[in-house]
Amino acid sequence: MDPTWNGQFSRFDLVSKTSERSRSIVRVRDVEIGGNEVIVMAGPCAVESERQLLETAETVAEAGARILRGGAYKPRSSPYAFQGLGVAGLKLLRKAREETGLAIVTEVLSEKDVDQICEYADILQVGARSMENYSLLEAVGKCGRPVLLKRGMVATLEELLRSAQIVAAAGNPHIILCERGIRTFEPATRNTLDISAIPVLKTVSHLPVIADPSHAAGVRCLVPILARAAVAVGADGLLVEVHPSPEAALSDGEQSLTFREFRDMMDDLQPYLAIQREARRLRPELLAVVGAD
Ligand code: PEP
Ligand code: MN
Repeated sequence: MDPTWNGQFSRFDLVSKTSERSRSIVRVRDVEIGGNEVIVMAGPCAVESERQLLETAETVAEAGARILRGGAYKPRSSPYAFQGLGVAGLKLLRKAREETGLAIVTEVLSEKDVDQICEYADILQVGARSMENYSLLEAVGKCGRPVLLKRGMVATLEELLRSAQIVAAAGNPHIILCERGIRTFEPATRNTLDISAIPVLKTVSHLPVIADPSHAAGVRCLVPILARAAVAVGADGLLVEVHPSPEAALSDGEQSLTFREFRDMMDDLQPYLAIQREARRLRPELLAVVGAD
């Protein structure tokens, strides 16, 4: 496949695919993102309480997730909505890691919080609303933690890669790209999951690419099927919202899976995960394993 996609993409020297570097693996504790396994990251939209987080962490770990998500600092559309627990939330995430062994991904909203969040998190999430916050991108580029960079709601893939290049140019090559749905004219879903973004990004960039079906769908009934679609087109991982009682969630309850729904989703995904694992093992050139870290 053509790594410039018929010349439509700029050559961003640190993130574009080249013959020397066609696949990179981001290592987080004992987890490899971009390797032969599809990695599931799951947890609540926001950290709300110790009980909510620990119960969720235990459940998702038991069902096969490797990384716990949970926002301590929340970018909310309304200034009156729950803004997150801040440092108290970070402490709960650390506790959940100690108890379950799951690595932690949490969002960083401001460059001022980067150092502090690095003390608690294994991966720093830069959210859709922050994808073009250049001072934040530079700050996460200078920290030693991997970065999960979400596509902005109205950002092209070229713009997403440009943001990734800023992080890499600041010194941090450990970047995971995330397709989380884009804004279109279709109101039936919260966003439109751009399923083609996954293979296109994997063709033009060496970075791992994951999908967030929760923010794309906006409704929980669509999350498992979109997760399956993302795995089928080669996503390196999934980011999924799960809550012990979604109807009482302080944010994104409508799109959060119950524990039972999450377990069922993981069961139903198994054949698709196995196909991916086998395809990557048998034909690594599909992912072109050259110059991995
Ligand atoms: C989130 O992951 O909870 C979130 C706010 O996502 P996004 O930045 O994709 O809207
Ligand atoms: Mn959310």
